[in-house]
Amino acid sequence: MSFVLHVDGERWRAGLDRVVAERPGIVPVIKGNGYGFGRNLLCAEASRLGAPTIAVGTYAEVPEALAAFGGDVLVMEPYRAAIHAGLPDLLNTRLVHTVTTSVDVESLRGVLAEARVVVEGLTSMNRFGAPVGEVGDLAAAADAVGVTLHLPLGTGHVEEIARFIAAVPRVQTWFVSHVSTRELATLAERFPDHTFRPRIGTDLWYADKGSYEVRAHVLDVRPVAKGTRVGYRQRPVAGGHLVVVSGGTSHGVAMESPSSAATLRSRAIAVTEGVLEAAHRVRSPFTVSGTTPRFAEPPHMQCSLLVLPEGATPPRVGDEVPVRMRLTTTAPDAVVIS
Ligand SMILES: *Cc1c(COP(=O)(O)O)cnc(C)c1O
Repeated sequence: MSFVLHVDGERWRAGLDRVVAERPGIVPVIKGNGYGFGRNLLCAEASRLGAPTIAVGTYAEVPEALAAFGGDVLVMEPYRAAIHAGLPDLLNTRLVHTVTTSVDVESLRGVLAEARVVVEGLTSMNRFGAPVGEVGDLAAAADAVGVTLHLPLGTGHVEEIARFIAAVPRVQTWFVSHVSTRELATLAERFPDHTFRPRIGTDLWYADKGSYEVRAHVLDVRPVAKGTRVGYRQRPVAGGHLVVVSGGTSHGVAMESPSSAATLRSRAIAVTEGVLEAAHRVRSPFTVSGTTPRFAEPPHMQCSLLVLPEGATPPRVGDEVPVRMRLTTTAPDAVVIS
């Protein structure tokens, strides 16, 4: 059985090339499940794109990134003396660390005197960072190579970034997250002496949404009479065909959070029943014979039972059916680039 992310390589890469051309200084973000493509594949793409620096989410992702990418690796989680001081990779001079306190800077420099750091400012995201009034002193004391700002989703970030720049005018390089192309242009115009480096994942890797697709195999198809009980939970199904497809919880099927459910009704169901329990009440992400059939019951670990209504043409065993999923929570069996 297989649950595969198929990528039209030429088309996908053309999308990446476009984004890189539009966003000078881009720092590709490569973290988590590698946006569904896998982190190593994205590291190879970042090399092809000629990016001098990539950003990873955590120190746990550092060893693989250093092996798969030859340039600088910016770690976006803050370096914390209490957590990371013993990591062997701290000695690697290709790393750029994120710091928010002088205690952490001292610890880092105790391990490697020339360790490079960026200082993260505490923005309206309120995740982590040094308050705007402390960024300048910390950046100067740490001889930081830049300041990083992580902004909430949406727009309207220029004023917030401008406040930081006003407080820390001497820092040249600003790594910014979730800033639009238009906002970047405004910033470049307003602050011609500064360099802005957008850290981008989603808008880069998903630049051309039509260039990739998850497809699952049909493993079995059987007519079922209304009321037939199926599955672990022996629930009665509506009549039609029972279609067994590859793809289950281990691939991330039906694990999406309620806020990503399509309709208010499906969100409400997901909230009251729990996301997985709600699966049989909402449409599955599989497209079979032009419809999106319901789950017969919550997905199993590696396959799912779907009920194709009366009248719909059943697929054949071995057919591939498209699956609509959020790739940041998808774990495909394989990624095939053609
Ligand atoms: C994940 C992350 C990004 C990239 O986010 P996308 O929405 O995928 O572009 C940028 N900056 C920080 C700090 C992040 O954690």
